[in-house]
This record gives sequence, structure tokens and C-alpha cells, in this order.
Amino acid sequence: MAYYNKANQEPLPTDDINTWECSQENCNGWMRKNFTSSSQPSCPLCGNEMISGIRHITVLANGIMDKEKK
Ligand SMILES: [Zn+2]
Repeated sequence: MAYYNKANQEPLPTDDINTWECSQENCNGWMRKNFTSSSQPSCPLCGNEMISGIRHITVLANGIMDKEKK
């Protein structure tokens, strides 16, 4: 049965997070919207303005959950 193998391969859990992405093309600066209160933050790396974005991240299943702490 084809379903057998498929069931054995659990996909890695993923998550979509809202981010600020640096508008500078050659800069990797970005931050989570959750972690910033500013409505127009500047890049922590180069200081340029940041644009709204979304990142699709993989959530590791070994306890290092990339989650908000309360
Ligand atoms: Zn930057």
C-alpha cells in the first residue's frame, strides 16, 4: 500500500510568522513582529527601513520550539 510509507514520514512542523524584513537587498536583517512594538522599525544591522513580510519557518521537534514565551 502506498499509504504505508507516507504515514511513516512525518512532515516537519512549520509555522508562519510575521516579520519585518530589511529593505536592503544585500542585508539579512529581519525581526519578528511579535518582538517589536514599533510600527516602522529600522534594521538592527544596517539601519535601513524594514518592510512587512512573512517567514515560513521549521519548528524543530527536539524541544527547541520557536515560540513566544510568556
Ligand atoms: Zn539591514
